[in-house]
Amino acid sequence: MEKFLVDAHCHLARKELQCRVDAIIREALENNVKIMIVSVQNEVELHNGLRLHEKYPLSIFLTLGQDLTDFTTDMVSRAEKLLCRLVSEGIVVGIGEIGLDYGRVRDPILRGIAKSIFERWLEVAKKLDLPVIVHSRRAHREVIELLRSHGLKRVVLHAFYGGTEAAKRAVDEGFFFSIPPSIVHSKQKQKLVKVVPLDQVLLESDSPELGPEYGAESRPVHVKLVAKKISEIVGTSEDDVIIQTTENALKVFKLRHYVYTSSS
Ligand SMILES: [Zn+2]
Repeated sequence: MEKFLVDAHCHLARKELQCRVDAIIREALENNVKIMIVSVQNEVELHNGLRLHEKYPLSIFLTLGQDLTDFTTDMVSRAEKLLCRLVSEGIVVGIGEIGLDYGRVRDPILRGIAKSIFERWLEVAKKLDLPVIVHSRRAHREVIELLRSHGLKRVVLHAFYGGTEAAKRAVDEGFFFSIPPSIVHSKQKQKLVKVVPLDQVLLESDSPELGPEYGAESRPVHVKLVAKKISEIVGTSEDDVIIQTTENALKVFKLRHYVYTSSS
Protein backbone atom coordinates (compact mmCIF):
# COMPACT_ATOMS: atom_id res chain seq x y z
CA MET A 1 0.00 0.00 0.00
CA GLU A 2 1.33 3.44 -0.88
CA LYS A 3 2.11 5.83 1.94
CA PHE A 4 -0.36 8.61 2.73
CA LEU A 5 -1.80 10.51 5.71
CA VAL A 6 -5.26 10.52 7.25
CA ASP A 7 -6.82 13.49 9.03
CA ALA A 8 -8.93 11.62 11.57
CA HIS A 9 -10.97 14.61 12.71
CA CYS A 10 -11.80 17.96 11.13
CA HIS A 11 -14.75 20.31 10.73
CA LEU A 12 -14.66 20.99 6.99
CA ALA A 13 -18.47 21.05 6.86
CA ARG A 14 -18.61 24.23 8.96
CA LYS A 15 -20.66 26.93 7.36
CA GLU A 16 -17.91 29.56 7.43
CA LEU A 17 -15.45 27.31 5.54
CA GLN A 18 -17.71 26.50 2.59
CA CYS A 19 -16.55 29.39 0.39
CA ARG A 20 -12.98 28.00 0.33
CA VAL A 21 -13.32 24.37 1.34
CA ASP A 22 -12.35 23.08 -2.12
CA ALA A 23 -9.00 24.88 -1.92
CA ILE A 24 -8.44 23.45 1.58
CA ILE A 25 -9.20 19.90 0.40
CA ARG A 26 -7.08 20.32 -2.73
CA GLU A 27 -4.14 21.52 -0.65
CA ALA A 28 -4.50 18.42 1.56
CA LEU A 29 -4.71 16.01 -1.38
CA GLU A 30 -1.69 17.60 -3.07
CA ASN A 31 0.23 17.07 0.16
CA ASN A 32 -0.68 13.40 0.43
CA VAL A 33 -3.39 13.80 3.08
CA LYS A 34 -5.73 11.51 1.21
CA ILE A 35 -8.50 10.88 3.70
CA MET A 36 -10.30 13.44 5.87
CA ILE A 37 -12.86 12.40 8.46
CA VAL A 38 -15.30 15.29 8.70
CA SER A 39 -17.29 15.77 11.88
CA VAL A 40 -20.86 16.91 11.29
CA GLN A 41 -22.61 18.47 14.30
CA ASN A 42 -25.79 20.11 13.04
CA GLU A 43 -28.26 20.05 10.19
CA VAL A 44 -26.38 22.58 8.02
CA GLU A 45 -23.12 20.68 8.44
CA LEU A 46 -24.84 17.43 7.53
CA HIS A 47 -26.00 19.00 4.28
CA ASN A 48 -22.49 20.38 3.57
CA GLY A 49 -20.82 17.11 4.58
CA LEU A 50 -22.98 15.03 2.26
CA ARG A 51 -22.16 17.39 -0.59
CA LEU A 52 -18.43 17.12 0.15
CA HIS A 53 -18.59 13.33 0.24
CA GLU A 54 -20.40 13.29 -3.06
CA LYS A 55 -17.68 15.45 -4.60
CA TYR A 56 -14.75 13.55 -3.00
CA PRO A 57 -16.17 10.04 -2.38
CA LEU A 58 -12.79 8.43 -1.70
CA SER A 59 -11.39 11.20 0.48
CA ILE A 60 -14.19 12.68 2.57
CA PHE A 61 -16.03 10.51 5.08
CA LEU A 62 -18.32 11.72 7.82
CA THR A 63 -18.88 11.18 11.50
CA LEU A 64 -22.19 12.28 12.94
CA GLY A 65 -22.50 13.98 16.31
CA GLN A 66 -23.70 17.24 17.80
CA ASP A 67 -22.40 20.44 19.27
CA LEU A 68 -21.56 19.98 22.94
CA THR A 69 -23.60 23.02 23.89
CA ASP A 70 -26.66 21.81 22.00
CA PHE A 71 -28.92 20.38 24.69
CA THR A 72 -31.65 19.13 22.37
CA THR A 73 -32.06 15.57 21.13
CA ASP A 74 -32.74 16.74 17.55
CA MET A 75 -29.45 15.49 16.07
CA VAL A 76 -29.40 12.15 17.82
CA SER A 77 -33.02 11.48 16.83
CA ARG A 78 -32.16 12.42 13.25
CA ALA A 79 -29.11 10.15 13.37
CA GLU A 80 -31.16 7.22 14.59
CA LYS A 81 -33.35 7.56 11.50
CA LEU A 82 -30.62 8.29 8.95
CA LEU A 83 -27.65 6.26 10.04
CA CYS A 84 -28.50 2.79 8.76
CA ARG A 85 -28.52 4.03 5.20
CA LEU A 86 -25.55 6.41 5.52
CA VAL A 87 -23.45 3.71 7.16
CA SER A 88 -24.35 1.00 4.67
CA GLU A 89 -23.48 3.38 1.83
CA GLY A 90 -20.08 4.00 3.41
CA ILE A 91 -20.66 7.73 3.89
CA VAL A 92 -20.76 7.85 7.69
CA VAL A 93 -17.94 5.91 9.35
CA GLY A 94 -18.40 6.88 12.99
CA ILE A 95 -20.18 8.87 15.67
CA GLY A 96 -18.71 12.20 16.72
CA GLU A 97 -17.79 14.45 17.86
CA ILE A 98 -19.71 13.86 21.03
CA GLY A 99 -18.69 14.06 24.69
CA LEU A 100 -18.74 16.25 27.75
CA ASP A 101 -17.26 19.71 28.09
CA TYR A 102 -17.46 20.75 31.71
CA GLY A 103 -15.22 23.71 30.94
CA ARG A 104 -17.99 25.29 28.86
CA VAL A 105 -21.00 23.68 30.55
CA ARG A 106 -21.06 24.62 34.25
CA ASP A 107 -24.71 24.35 35.19
CA PRO A 108 -25.39 21.01 36.94
CA ILE A 109 -28.76 20.59 35.23
CA LEU A 110 -27.28 21.21 31.80
CA ARG A 111 -24.41 18.83 32.62
CA GLY A 112 -26.99 16.17 33.42
CA ILE A 113 -28.74 16.74 30.10
CA ALA A 114 -25.43 16.69 28.23
CA LYS A 115 -24.57 13.42 29.89
CA SER A 116 -27.85 11.75 28.94
CA ILE A 117 -27.47 12.92 25.32
CA PHE A 118 -23.89 11.61 25.30
CA GLU A 119 -25.11 8.23 26.54
CA ARG A 120 -27.79 8.09 23.89
CA TRP A 121 -25.14 8.63 21.20
CA LEU A 122 -23.03 5.88 22.76
CA GLU A 123 -25.96 3.51 22.45
CA VAL A 124 -26.39 4.43 18.79
CA ALA A 125 -22.69 3.72 18.19
CA LYS A 126 -22.92 0.42 20.03
CA LYS A 127 -25.98 -0.70 18.12
CA LEU A 128 -24.45 0.07 14.72
CA ASP A 129 -20.95 -1.04 15.72
CA LEU A 130 -19.43 2.37 14.95
CA PRO A 131 -16.35 4.03 16.43
CA VAL A 132 -16.86 7.17 18.53
CA ILE A 133 -14.84 10.40 18.40
CA VAL A 134 -14.99 11.88 21.84
CA HIS A 135 -14.34 15.34 23.21
CA SER A 136 -13.72 15.61 26.91
CA ARG A 137 -12.86 18.66 28.95
CA ARG A 138 -12.72 18.59 32.74
CA ALA A 139 -14.75 15.40 32.64
CA HIS A 140 -12.12 12.77 31.83
CA ARG A 141 -12.90 10.32 34.61
CA GLU A 142 -16.62 10.38 33.86
CA VAL A 143 -16.13 10.15 30.10
CA ILE A 144 -13.74 7.20 30.31
CA GLU A 145 -16.07 5.43 32.74
CA LEU A 146 -19.13 5.98 30.49
CA LEU A 147 -17.26 4.68 27.44
CA ARG A 148 -16.17 1.65 29.40
CA SER A 149 -19.57 0.91 30.96
CA HIS A 150 -21.32 1.19 27.58
CA GLY A 151 -18.85 -1.33 26.19
CA LEU A 152 -17.47 0.88 23.42
CA LYS A 153 -14.41 -0.72 21.85
CA ARG A 154 -13.41 1.61 19.05
CA VAL A 155 -12.89 4.92 20.81
CA VAL A 156 -10.94 7.97 19.64
CA LEU A 157 -10.24 10.59 22.28
CA HIS A 158 -9.75 13.68 20.20
CA ALA A 159 -7.40 16.49 21.27
CA PHE A 160 -7.30 14.99 24.74
CA TYR A 161 -6.75 17.59 27.47
CA GLY A 162 -6.28 15.22 30.40
CA GLY A 163 -3.17 14.50 32.36
CA THR A 164 -0.90 11.49 32.19
CA GLU A 165 -2.87 9.44 34.68
CA ALA A 166 -6.19 9.74 32.84
CA ALA A 167 -4.41 9.10 29.55
CA LYS A 168 -2.86 5.89 30.87
CA ARG A 169 -6.26 4.66 32.00
CA ALA A 170 -7.63 5.24 28.51
CA VAL A 171 -4.58 3.55 26.96
CA ASP A 172 -5.29 0.48 29.09
CA GLU A 173 -8.85 0.43 27.75
CA GLY A 174 -7.36 0.28 24.23
CA PHE A 175 -8.67 3.73 23.28
CA PHE A 176 -7.05 5.75 20.50
CA PHE A 177 -5.86 9.35 20.77
CA SER A 178 -5.99 11.73 17.82
CA ILE A 179 -3.34 14.39 18.11
CA PRO A 180 -3.90 17.94 16.74
CA PRO A 181 -1.37 20.44 15.27
CA SER A 182 -1.28 22.31 18.60
CA ILE A 183 1.25 19.61 19.64
CA VAL A 184 3.83 21.86 17.99
CA HIS A 185 3.56 24.26 20.96
CA SER A 186 1.46 22.43 23.59
CA LYS A 187 3.55 20.86 26.34
CA GLN A 188 0.51 18.88 27.48
CA LYS A 189 0.10 17.26 24.04
CA GLN A 190 3.86 16.62 23.86
CA LYS A 191 3.65 14.78 27.20
CA LEU A 192 0.60 12.89 26.03
CA VAL A 193 2.30 11.22 23.06
CA LYS A 194 5.01 9.91 25.38
CA VAL A 195 2.48 7.75 27.24
CA VAL A 196 0.38 6.60 24.28
CA PRO A 197 1.83 3.74 22.23
CA LEU A 198 2.13 4.59 18.53
CA ASP A 199 -0.37 1.90 17.59
CA GLN A 200 -3.02 3.90 19.48
CA VAL A 201 -2.23 7.27 17.89
CA LEU A 202 -4.08 9.03 15.07
CA LEU A 203 -3.41 12.40 13.44
CA GLU A 204 -6.05 15.12 13.30
CA SER A 205 -6.25 18.76 12.24
CA ASP A 206 -9.47 19.63 14.12
CA SER A 207 -9.63 22.22 11.31
CA PRO A 208 -10.30 25.09 11.67
CA GLU A 209 -9.28 25.00 15.34
CA LEU A 210 -6.08 24.04 17.19
CA GLY A 211 -3.63 25.20 14.55
CA PRO A 212 0.15 24.84 14.79
CA GLU A 213 0.46 28.38 16.14
CA TYR A 214 -1.61 30.06 18.83
CA GLY A 215 -4.82 31.38 17.32
CA ALA A 216 -3.86 30.26 13.81
CA GLU A 217 -6.27 28.40 11.59
CA SER A 218 -5.76 24.68 11.33
CA ARG A 219 -6.09 22.86 8.00
CA PRO A 220 -5.88 19.14 7.15
CA VAL A 221 -2.45 19.64 5.54
CA HIS A 222 -1.14 20.35 9.06
CA VAL A 223 -1.33 16.69 10.06
CA LYS A 224 2.08 16.48 8.36
CA LEU A 225 3.45 18.76 11.09
CA VAL A 226 1.84 16.51 13.72
CA ALA A 227 3.58 13.45 12.27
CA LYS A 228 6.91 15.29 12.23
CA LYS A 229 6.58 16.49 15.83
CA ILE A 230 5.54 13.04 17.09
CA SER A 231 8.50 11.46 15.31
CA GLU A 232 10.87 13.88 17.08
CA ILE A 233 9.31 13.21 20.49
CA VAL A 234 9.14 9.43 20.32
CA GLY A 235 12.43 9.12 18.42
CA THR A 236 11.29 7.26 15.34
CA SER A 237 11.17 8.20 11.66
CA GLU A 238 8.44 10.40 10.23
CA ASP A 239 7.63 7.59 7.79
CA ASP A 240 7.04 5.17 10.66
CA VAL A 241 4.63 7.62 12.29
CA ILE A 242 2.76 8.14 9.01
CA ILE A 243 2.53 4.43 8.19
CA GLN A 244 1.42 3.45 11.69
CA THR A 245 -1.13 6.24 12.21
CA THR A 246 -2.67 5.64 8.78
CA GLU A 247 -2.89 1.94 9.55
CA ASN A 248 -4.61 2.82 12.86
CA ALA A 249 -7.09 5.16 11.18
CA LEU A 250 -8.00 2.62 8.50
CA LYS A 251 -8.57 0.09 11.26
CA VAL A 252 -10.67 2.36 13.51
CA PHE A 253 -12.91 3.61 10.70
CA LYS A 254 -12.86 0.33 8.73
CA LEU A 255 -11.74 2.15 5.62
CA ARG A 256 -9.36 -0.37 4.14
CA HIS A 257 -11.94 -1.49 1.63
CA TYR A 258 -12.21 2.01 0.11
CA VAL A 259 -8.47 2.42 -0.11
CA TYR A 260 -8.01 -0.85 -1.96
CA THR A 261 -10.93 -0.10 -4.26
CA SER A 262 -9.47 3.29 -5.15
CA SER A 263 -5.95 2.05 -5.84
CA SER A 264 -7.00 -0.91 -7.96
ZN1 LIG B 1 -13.39 18.92 16.86
